[in-house]
Amino acid sequence: MEEKDFITHSSRETEDLGSKFAHNFRTGDIVVLIGALGAGKTTFVQGVAKAFNIKSRIISPTFILVRKHRVNLKSPAFAEASAGTQNLKTLYHIDLYRLENSEEIKNLGLEEIFEDTDGIFFIEWGEKHENLKTSWEINFEILGRDRRRITLNH
Ligand code: ADP
Ligand code: MG
Repeated sequence: MEEKDFITHSSRETEDLGSKFAHNFRTGDIVVLIGALGAGKTTFVQGVAKAFNIKSRIISPTFILVRKHRVNLKSPAFAEASAGTQNLKTLYHIDLYRLENSEEIKNLGLEEIFEDTDGIFFIEWGEKHENLKTSWEINFEILGRDRRRITLNH
């Protein structure tokens, strides 16, 4: 278990952290993002998406619980830095915020989604799911209006 933590002072810094950290993720990883509304979970995923050269916009899912984004890893620099994502094709952005009980979460069919062997999975409020095979847990803590503590566990 490895833990790293960072303080960011703006949403830009949180996004940049996602971009800079992206090369540590591997195809197949399940990344759980934990923290209050407005703590910066979606912002972090937007930064990761930039590094993965994703063209579609990462937004806070409203009533759509799962969004698929096509990855375009054309940048040779990134491919070299990130040997573990060479076959990565799809980033799944999932938000369990609206789900109220384990029955609803089961019915979402996440297990089938995880069968995509060319995918990577970012799950906001993932702690609501009782037995995820989590690769990374990222905690977002609101320290002040613009200050966030972001702790990454692997
Ligand atoms: P979540 O997905 O955790 O609900 P979002 O990423 O959607 O949160 O929103 C974070 C909100 O907090 C945005 O309105 C953003 O502008 C604001 N914000 C202020 N400071 C920060 C920071 N350091 N990191 C991320 N967001 C910040
Ligand atoms: Mg969000």
